[in-house]
Amino acid sequence: MTKTIHVLGIESSCDDTGVSIINQDGKILSNCVHSQLKQHLEMGGIVPVMAREYHLANIDRVARQAFRESNLNSVAKDIDAIAVTTRPGLKFSLQIGLNYARTLAKKYSKPLIPIHHMQAHALMPLLTNRSSIKFPFMVLLLSGGHCILSLAKRYNDFHILGETRDEAPGDLLDKFARRLRLRNLGPPFDHLSGGASIELLGKMEAADRFKYFNTGKHVPMLTTGDCDFSFAGYRDCLEQVAPSIDSLWSAGDRERLLSELSHVCASLQRIMLSQIARRLHRAIMFYRMCWRYQNEDSFKQEASEDHLGFPLRGIDEDIDVVVSGGVAANKYFVDGINMLVKSVQDSDSAGAFAPTKSLCSDNGLMIAWNGLLRYQDFMAMSSSIGARPKLGYGYDVVCDVTKLDQIEIEVSSRMGKDIRDEVKLANFKLGKLAIPEFKLAH
Ligand code: AMP
Ligand code: ZN
Repeated sequence: MTKTIHVLGIESSCDDTGVSIINQDGKILSNCVHSQLKQHLEMGGIVPVMAREYHLANIDRVARQAFRESNLNSVAKDIDAIAVTTRPGLKFSLQIGLNYARTLAKKYSKPLIPIHHMQAHALMPLLTNRSSIKFPFMVLLLSGGHCILSLAKRYNDFHILGETRDEAPGDLLDKFARRLRLRNLGPPFDHLSGGASIELLGKMEAADRFKYFNTGKHVPMLTTGDCDFSFAGYRDCLEQVAPSIDSLWSAGDRERLLSELSHVCASLQRIMLSQIARRLHRAIMFYRMCWRYQNEDSFKQEASEDHLGFPLRGIDEDIDVVVSGGVAANKYFVDGINMLVKSVQDSDSAGAFAPTKSLCSDNGLMIAWNGLLRYQDFMAMSSSIGARPKLGYGYDVVCDVTKLDQIEIEVSSRMGKDIRDEVKLANFKLGKLAIPEFKLAH
């Protein structure tokens, strides 16, 4: 009987310490996370040196817990490879995870697989929707530190169509939440992230929900013909409403305060979604009308099924969109994106896929899953050239113990080939009807 492959994944790029174990069939044996959210909320934002200390204090405990919960017998016998986030992220946080993973790899002579954090987010929904999502698909990463629109051609081949020119959507939501003092509303807001608080408030008031701001006036990047984003401009909206919210705080009328906050949050989400939808719409047009023709030959060469068992899409079909990253936990955003994806394409089968809420934020599972894809590919390539190589294969899977010390962290790192200039050159104009009305019921 052949032995089942198990990959251990370690994530520590920001403020979550995550360790998970997955088997070759994508079965999750364990997924343990220690979150630092509470401590950083109290500090008013992430403090990198403190994040490092918390990772250091927790990583061994979380790893031992993940191993215990997996019911495997020993790392030496049962774990085949160790995957770890090496890029991008906070320097001190990344270092803790890499050092821990490297120590394990050396101690037990296991291959080490360096993982790109954003690629791992992008591929997370494939684990649970393997039969529905087909390459190529569009990826929209919305998080506290990033906003990236990319095209996933394969699990390790991404093209970047757009990214934020200033700040990320999660960062903006957190700023709004801090300035409007949402934590001071008490439970449950005092232990929710800024984005989660805004989502919760945004669905409280049914009537006249979107009375603030204006999708024609307050949405940045309306006239630029590319797929880049900008969220810093929304801060003007914050300045516009903050004084009246301050007065309501002082007046102590909780009911009015909650009602107005609810309107502000719903309205903010709407103007954010309006921008996100426009950029995504243009990206879908670019893919359908430009990119696939330029890349037709390479599609044809790739046969109809690759060795990982993912069927490749025919070039004339619609494209799915994966939404991932912490902000993808927001149902209003994901529902709106799903409406857009369907309304601008021909068939009803294309849609938007987001991981379940708990897997939107950082976790070890996405690293283990990405590690498994790379390890299986590595094994398939090794067997196709005769023998399993003893040396590392490129930067994907490092088997040679003497090369482990050469693996380095990268604080910033693009997740793929930058083709934003091509998108800009195509300069697609958006028709009016393609942006649906985002007055979604919750
Ligand atoms: P990440 O950077 O991927 O770890 O995600 C963290 C970001 O996601 C923070 O900025 C949070 O405010 C944001 N976030 C978490 N939950 C939600 C939600 N339900 N809606 C919008 N943003 C959220
Ligand atoms: Zn993340």
